[in-house]
Amino acid sequence: MGRDLLNAPVLGRFLRWRHARTVLQATCLGLAVLIILDGLFGPQLAPRNLAGTLPWVHWRGFVVLALLVVGNLFCMACPFMLPRRLAKRFGPARLPWPAPLRSKWLAVAILLLFFWAYEAFGLWASPWLTAWVAVTYFVLAFVIDGFFKGASFCKHVCAIGQFHFVNAMVSPTEVAVRDPEVCQRCETLDCIRGRYEASGAADPGRGPRPLELDADSGVVRLATADAASGRALGGKGLVQSGCELALFQPQKTGNGDCTFCMECIHACPHDNVGILVRSPLDELTRDPVRSGVGRLSRKPDWAALALLLTFGAFLNAFGMVEPVFRLQEWMAAALGLTSPLLLLALFFGLGLVVLPGLLTGAAAWASRALSRGSDTLVERASTYAWGLVPLGFGMWLAHYLYHLLIGGLTIVPVVQQYLRDLGVPAGGDPRWGAGALVPESWLLPIELVFLQGGLVVSLVASFRIARREEGGKTSALRAFLPWAVLATILSLMGIWLLMQPMEMRGTFQAI
Ligand code: SF4
Ligand code: SF4
Repeated sequence: MGRDLLNAPVLGRFLRWRHARTVLQATCLGLAVLIILDGLFGPQLAPRNLAGTLPWVHWRGFVVLALLVVGNLFCMACPFMLPRRLAKRFGPARLPWPAPLRSKWLAVAILLLFFWAYEAFGLWASPWLTAWVAVTYFVLAFVIDGFFKGASFCKHVCAIGQFHFVNAMVSPTEVAVRDPEVCQRCETLDCIRGRYEASGAADPGRGPRPLELDADSGVVRLATADAASGRALGGKGLVQSGCELALFQPQKTGNGDCTFCMECIHACPHDNVGILVRSPLDELTRDPVRSGVGRLSRKPDWAALALLLTFGAFLNAFGMVEPVFRLQEWMAAALGLTSPLLLLALFFGLGLVVLPGLLTGAAAWASRALSRGSDTLVERASTYAWGLVPLGFGMWLAHYLYHLLIGGLTIVPVVQQYLRDLGVPAGGDPRWGAGALVPESWLLPIELVFLQGGLVVSLVASFRIARREEGGKTSALRAFLPWAVLATILSLMGIWLLMQPMEMRGTFQAI
């Protein structure tokens, strides 16, 4: 680990400030309220509405840039957290999250549903529906965390959170301990228990600390065990929460499930937690038992999430190019399907479940056969799926930055119109022609750099995974080869997609 963002001159000071996160969240909450109001009551032409532009053009572009340059800044500034905090204060918030749902399978299903609904209902083109998606999010976060302990909504339900947890594995920073030896001497473990008023009975977690890390689930068990699974905010005498995502700093590895909430940073009495700079390859190529997660190579649910987001990056872009319409017409005619919703369900089922299953299964089978392994196909796929994450992230970057770069300035006339509607002078007539941030000829080269950068990182990560698993170079090369072929096929598909004319969603010129 290298430098610590908390020691950076201005940024570090801001991040250490106790109320930094609240300020960021309040700013995002204000924006979310404006988006909802404009979505419900403003013009229903997407490029003229805050709900048709800010979330789909600007927010998506900025969050992938943030993941590339820093880390999971969206969760840090998440607007759904303030209402959720109210829910923790006034709701019971004591129920444990149901055991059958303590995995990523529910999140995989929700993401699948979202990918389908995005195209089926044209969310990007409907400010009204976009506003209702945001309202639904607020209600779900409020209700779920009002009833259940810890950050159940973030960990098990939130689709945006899962997107960030997986793609932040390639980010260059991580919330981590500065000096592991300090943790070994630590008697309080406030980073996970939280800090309590020093009034005896109100602090049940103090004292000697038998501690074990479950090798399968990554759950940390302390002497007073409930603290390890995330104590509800506002518990009696609690003055500073510990990690609500059940990530115990000394055994935490990487950004999986970490919302960058900084509670552990504020809770640690030894100032031993920082936001440390690291190699983007570091997290994907190691496989320790991770606190709150377990071993990634033994987690088919996590691997399914990684694969869904990788293949989803390509299918999401495919949904915006002309050949997709011809393919869908052909499918409808061949199968005699008249319902567009059903047709899209079939299309996404094939593109996000069947095809990834077949391709990954084939790569796992070939990798195992070539290296003469004895593991199961699911184990092999769960081990190597992580090597594909940088490629998927490269595709998300290419796609979302395309929209940001071609439509970034649309925010100017949209805000002008918004202010005019409120009766506030906004510097003359809205300039609806504003749009591109860079010349159009720059777009393809920029997109290709991100996509091919993702491919290179994927290949290096996959080979390192193979070296870790196989030991010998020759055997590692054999195990790696099928995954390299799969990554290369996907990247060629990505190049073809990026070279197609793309719909300019949320951008005025498209009309
Ligand atoms: S991070 Fe801080 S509170 Fe947590 S174990 Fe280490 S020293 Fe203790
Ligand atoms: S408290 Fe947990 S989720 Fe929050 S930054 Fe620390 S490790 Fe991440």
